[in-house]
Order: sequence, then C-alpha cells, then structure tokens
Amino acid sequence: MGKVTGFLEIDRRDRRYAPASDRIRHYREFMIPLSEESTRDQAARCMNCGIPYCHTGCPVNNQIPDWNDLVYNGEWAEASRNLHSTNNFPEFTGRVCPAPCEASCTLNLEDTPVTIKTIECAIVDRGWKEGWIKPQPPAAKTGKRIAVVGSGPAGLAAAQQLARAGHEVHVFEKNRKAGGLLRYGIPDFKMEKHLIDRRIAQMEAEGVVFHYEEHIGVTRPAQELVDQYDAVLLSGGSEMSRDLPIEGRDLNGVHFAMDFLPQQNRRVSEEQNDNATPILAGGKRVVVIGGGDTGSDCIGTSVRQGALSVVQLEIMPRPPEKENKALTWPNWPLKLRTSSSHEEGADRDFAVATVKFSGANGRVKRLHCVRLDAKMQPVPGSEFDINADLVLLAMGFVHPVHEGMLDELALARDARGNVSANTRDYKSSAEKIFACGDMRRGQSLVVWAIREGRQAARSVDEFLMGSSVLPR
Ligand SMILES: Cc1cc2nc3c(=O)[nH]c(=O)nc-3n(C[C@H](O)[C@H](O)[C@H](O)COP(=O)(O)OP(=O)(O)OC[C@H]3O[C@@H](n4cnc5c(N)ncnc54)[C@H](O)[C@@H]3O)c2cc1C
Ligand code: SF4
Repeated sequence: MGKVTGFLEIDRRDRRYAPASDRIRHYREFMIPLSEESTRDQAARCMNCGIPYCHTGCPVNNQIPDWNDLVYNGEWAEASRNLHSTNNFPEFTGRVCPAPCEASCTLNLEDTPVTIKTIECAIVDRGWKEGWIKPQPPAAKTGKRIAVVGSGPAGLAAAQQLARAGHEVHVFEKNRKAGGLLRYGIPDFKMEKHLIDRRIAQMEAEGVVFHYEEHIGVTRPAQELVDQYDAVLLSGGSEMSRDLPIEGRDLNGVHFAMDFLPQQNRRVSEEQNDNATPILAGGKRVVVIGGGDTGSDCIGTSVRQGALSVVQLEIMPRPPEKENKALTWPNWPLKLRTSSSHEEGADRDFAVATVKFSGANGRVKRLHCVRLDAKMQPVPGSEFDINADLVLLAMGFVHPVHEGMLDELALARDARGNVSANTRDYKSSAEKIFACGDMRRGQSLVVWAIREGRQAARSVDEFLMGSSVLPR
C-alpha cells in the first residue's frame, strides 16, 4: 500500500480550476495539475483495502491501489504500464470520467476519497511526456480483416485491442476526424482534442486504418463490409437526441444541444461547419433544458460565447446536497452535482416542465413553464414564463439512429431501440456482426464505452481465432 498511516496524516487535496473569470475567455483546458510531490502524497492516502471497492466502482476495473502504491514509491513507468493494462485511454478518463471509483473508495465514507482520477491523469500525462507510451504493433499478423463502424471511445478501444492481437483493422467514420463524442460533443475546455490526435497516430502506427467521411448505410452499404470483412463491429453511438414535441418547438432559436456543441468544437479546431446555420449564444438569453453533462457543456460553451444569461431547467426535483452514506456507499449516489460550467454563471431550477415555446416573427422569445410536485404532476397556479433568445435541448439520447445502417442490416433491437447483444459475447442477431458502446447499451459514459470496446474486441478475437489472450 501507499504510506501505512498516509490517510491519517495527509488531507485530501485535488486539482483546482483556473479562476472562472479567466477561463471563460478561452476554450482551453483549465485544470491545474498537482505537483509531483502532492500527487505522491495523495497516492500515499490509499489504504489498500482488503476489498478494493474502487475496483468495482471503476468500469474498466483499473487496479487502483496497485498504481497508487507505485506512484507513492516513485515507480511512475511501471504505474503507466499497469494503468494501460486495463485502460487504453486513461488521459480521456483522467479528464472526463465522473469517477465512480472515488464514490466507491472507503475513504469516501468520510467524504475524503483518494483523488484517484487525478492520479490516473498524472500517470498517463507523465507517461506521454517521458516517451513511455509507444505504439505496440503485433509481432505476427493473423490475416483476418475486421471493420469497425464508429470511432468513439468504444470503437477506438476495440480497434486498438484487435490491431495489437494481429488483425487488420479498418475503422469507418462518418465525420472528418476520429473520436466520436470525445471530439464533437465534449467541449475543448474539458478535453483538448490534440489528445485524441496523439492516440490516433499511435493506433495508425499499430496498423489501424481509418476511413473518414464514410457514412456506413448511407455513403457505403453496410452489406459491403459484411461481405468484405471477417467480422464487423458496430460502435456508432446513441445519436438520436430526445426531443420536446410541444407547441412552438419549430421556432427559430430552439435547437438540440448536439446541433450547437459540435459547431463550437469545429470552430476551435478550424474544421469547417458544412452548410450549417451558425448557432451562437453571444448576446442572447439562453435556456438549457436538461440537467446532465450535455446541459452543463451547453452552459460552459454559451458563457464562453458571451451569452447575456444562462438558465438551466431540470425536470427532476433538486437532489440532496449530500447522500446518506449508509444507504448508498459504495454505489454511485444521487446528489446535487455542481460542474465547473455551473460555477461559471448559470441559474439552475429544478422540478420544472416546459409546456410551450412562444415567439415573434418565427423566433423564440419565451418559455412557458410549470412547477412539478413530487409525483411529477403540474402544481396548479405555479405557471411562469422565462424570456429566451436561444433554447438548447439537452435531454439525453433515446437510442442509435435506425435509418441507414441498422435498418439495412435488420438487426434485432432491445426494448429501448439499441442493438441487441449481451455483454458476454457482444454478438448481434446476425452472424459475424458485433455491437458495443452506446450503440448497444444506450447513452452512457466514456469509461463504459472503453470497457465495452475492450470486451467486444476479445469476443471478436475468440470468434475469429477460437481463443483469445486479450483481457476482458
Ligand atoms: C455533450 C456530451 C458530453 C459528454 N460528456 C461526458 C463526460 O464528461 N464524461 C463521460 O464519461 N461521458 C460523457 N458523455 C458521454 C460519452 O461521450 C459517450 O457515452 C461515449 O462517447 C460513447 O462512446 P461510443 O464510442 O459508444 O459512441 P460515440 O462517442 O457516440 O461515437 C460513435 C461514432 O460513430 C460514428 N458513426 C455513427 N454511425 C455511423 C455510421 N453509420 N457510419 C460511420 N460512422 C458512424 C459517429 O460519427 C461517432 O464518431 C458526453 C456526451 C455528450 C453528448
Ligand atoms: S476510469 Fe473513471 S472510474 Fe476508473 S479509475 Fe479512472 S476515474 Fe476512476
């Protein structure tokens, strides 16, 4: 373990953010890393519990106490090797994972969990800086060819694992660049995109071939991949946004979050926004409907664009400030979460339903809302209006896009409209077609996508070779 008495002697200390007044002037990351000494101190707090609950909290089962110990002992290169044995992209999770591991940490019983995510990020950032992270091309080729559709974290993790197992892997992506929601959803201020480019270069050196602007089922029939490859893995995400079909929905100025956020990410990386009318928050009263990650990213982006005001509406009641540990630990608790974007200036309101949009000259001007009671029923007499020039719908995603690839392949779907496949073998209802990530599990997290990509890769390898040494 780290230091035997570390958790008694050393207080929890985490990375801080640059002041809001500074960071809203740009789109760069603003997290200030801990010094090497402070990171070592934080690793020293790990108690190496007999039952490491953090393992079960982490979807990729990172061996957290092991690398805490290695960091404490100054063995950073070994820590990086250990971390990469379970997680292909710790620099992504070290920045954007909500860290369920920390909720599960035994020290969270006292609200002072080990700063696991910060240590993970420090290990991988140092690994890149020192040149320890290199391409790992396979020693021998199998002669098998695999098509992966979609280059989000699920597709990337699967492709990397399969290429390292010696297969010829081709990734087909409809966008101009790889990364899925890591690139076009998550704003640069949470994760800069050169981190993805660096991994893509590593994967190309390992033999993965990327085909961009290939919209499978639209620009190229999906059946062509089935005919030409030994296995096809679908990792196209869950891209159907949940709509709010109420009066006034068709007014100008009411948009899906995922029509707004990718435009800004493309502006930052100087990629063209093809034919799309610019959606900008500058000088506008913005209302974000939906209280999750996507809503939070809309706030941070609107503030940086110079919005006059930002209001976020959530239909669910305000969660408690603090969870009841006895009831929730080591599971992920429901509690009020305040993101860096919330701190930058947004008014939040809970238990509110929007019943109508109204406007003038075809443009939205107002939301008509009502408060909801504990049974989610409208409270009589609680109706109120909010003025708005831009409304962003961030209410989650219902399922993958069915038109095109999925309809063409006629794969079985689960009750929620995702591609039906289990987590033992990730096989779809069609021979040699597999599915993983949000396309299989529905909208989720980067860390779950990485887990599913890794596990699906093992299953594809087993299917092609009869056995596999890839980890699950
Ligand atoms: C705005 C936003 C912010 C988020 N923030 C966080 C966060 O902070 N932390 C976190 O853990 N999670 C976050 N998430 C969720 C996370 O990004 C997703 O769960 C994760 O990216 C899913 O990975 P995936 O590989 O399954 O799919 P995706 O990342 O959606 O990638 C799917 C890829 O497939 C491509 N594709 C789809 N269909 C086709 C086709 N027919 N042909 C070719 N290509 C195709 C798409 O273009 C896309 O590149 C966020 C999501 C959003 C929308
Ligand atoms: S991937 Fe997420 S859950 Fe796992 S150790 Fe990192 S921050 Fe924790």
